[in-house]
Amino acid sequence: MTATVIDGKEFAGRVRGQVSDHVARLKADHGITPGLAVVLVGEDPASEVYVAAKHRQTVEVGMASFEHKLPADVSEEELFAVIDKLNADPAVHGILCQFPVPDHLDERRVVARIDPAKDVDGLSVTNAGLLASGETGLVSCTPLGCLMLLRDQLGDMSGMDAVVVGRSNLFGKPMGQLLLQENCTVTIAHSRTRDLADVCRRADILVAAVGRAEMVQGDWVKPGATVIDVGITRIPHPDKPGKSKLLGDVHFAGAAEVAGAITPVPGGVGPMTIACLLANTVTACCRAHGLAEPEGLTA
Ligand code: NAP
Repeated sequence: MTATVIDGKEFAGRVRGQVSDHVARLKADHGITPGLAVVLVGEDPASEVYVAAKHRQTVEVGMASFEHKLPADVSEEELFAVIDKLNADPAVHGILCQFPVPDHLDERRVVARIDPAKDVDGLSVTNAGLLASGETGLVSCTPLGCLMLLRDQLGDMSGMDAVVVGRSNLFGKPMGQLLLQENCTVTIAHSRTRDLADVCRRADILVAAVGRAEMVQGDWVKPGATVIDVGITRIPHPDKPGKSKLLGDVHFAGAAEVAGAITPVPGGVGPMTIACLLANTVTACCRAHGLAEPEGLTA
């Protein structure tokens, strides 16, 4: 293997440390405690694990954590009443509703109900529009985390060819916008892209967010490229019966022979998402109070 393996777990720890320091300063200098509210509808086991991890990490960095667990059959009206209350609560600076929500609820309407200034998931049309216009908003957590890893790895990205595979509102589109802001020449590829391997081979920065295990082969990677693997596919563990294993969108062993640097799965992009959620909450808190934002934690 020739590539540097980018340690997202270690980097996420550093981000949480920066958040924690800023939270301590906000408390000491201004008597303000940033607060994050998480709304969970129903009892999806995976969502419960994510929400518990978010709660634990929120408390660990010294922020206030508010959890609202609602029954799976909650009406839109009842859910919106909870969101409206959180929108109006000055102790709450960030709100996220854990997705997926049950089928009778429309995720777009749920996101639209959250005050854009508290939309720490960065999923609202307002925040997507602000990003696309190059204005200040809140940026979706996983692309923000990838940007931080890339800045740390590459520094100035001006003029680099960047290819993002995947065009979801959650990841691919905001990632493309962030790379454009870094002055990359950006291609966003998707399921209709012709000659995907050729397109990927042009990339100095290759970001894969598709959800198809090991789709990106080693010979799709330009020598020396920086490869960010966002994909997560859970498969039965080949050696441990009853256990599962995570695979990324990139064939790690093959790509690591060619790339300059690469994120592993797990331990690459994944840990950055909650760290950036905490970073966005502290940023939202500073903006709400007209205070200086922490450096290096925003786009
Ligand atoms: P998504 O909404 O399903 O989008 C997948 C994208 O991949 C679509 O744009 C789709 O193209 C494209 N695609 C599908 N098959 C393709 C193919 N054969 N060739 C090229 N492009 C193809 O998924 P997402 O929410 O963006 O997530 C993508 C992956 O990232 C998933 O594995 C997800 O679990 C992971 N993820 C991880 C984190 C994290 O680490 N915290 C966060 C977010 C997402 P079309 O638009 O043409 O259909």
